[in-house]
Amino acid sequence: MDYGIIINKERLITDDELPKKLIAVGINTHPTISFEGETNEILLEETAALWFNKMVGDFNSLHNNKIIPDSGYRSVERQERLLKYYYAQDGEKAYTYVAPPRSSEHHTGLAIDVAMIVDGEYTDDITGEEPEIKELIENSYKYGFILRYPKGKEQVTGYVYEPWHFRFVGLDLAKEIHETGLALEEVVQLKSKKGFKL
Ligand SMILES: [Zn+2]
Repeated sequence: MDYGIIINKERLITDDELPKKLIAVGINTHPTISFEGETNEILLEETAALWFNKMVGDFNSLHNNKIIPDSGYRSVERQERLLKYYYAQDGEKAYTYVAPPRSSEHHTGLAIDVAMIVDGEYTDDITGEEPEIKELIENSYKYGFILRYPKGKEQVTGYVYEPWHFRFVGLDLAKEIHETGLALEEVVQLKSKKGFKL
């Protein structure tokens, strides 16, 4: 599996690039919509799952407020069903707020949205100002994760700041991204130039 893979509206995921093995890292307690036959397990690609569990395990042992997984792998089929569901309600307008099937990084099994348990209460209202989230953003590279859509990189990633969306890229790439402050797109582009060293 290519942990540096970039998936977006211009670069759709192919069948070959879908994760081969998925592992549950938690249960979705607050699903937006569940379709028939869908699991409520939160799934990640197997290596990403291993590192995610290690990261939140280490992290949560040090804090009273907990980081929890909120949304991981999404199937292409689910995205198609979502689009159909909202199209039936809203018509063409649905295309403005439902990501086109195959365009979401969540299809790779390498992306995870986190939520928190603050004073015993679930919240997915993550602003990036929480001390726990700040610390996670600063240290996630040690586990091969990066904050995928950081502040100030909107032009490069095409996404607004998402302080809850983490992405597994592997230990080496995560360290390079952490040290350079570049976005995944920028690092991958630089590396594609022959002989280039960061
Ligand atoms: Zn996400």
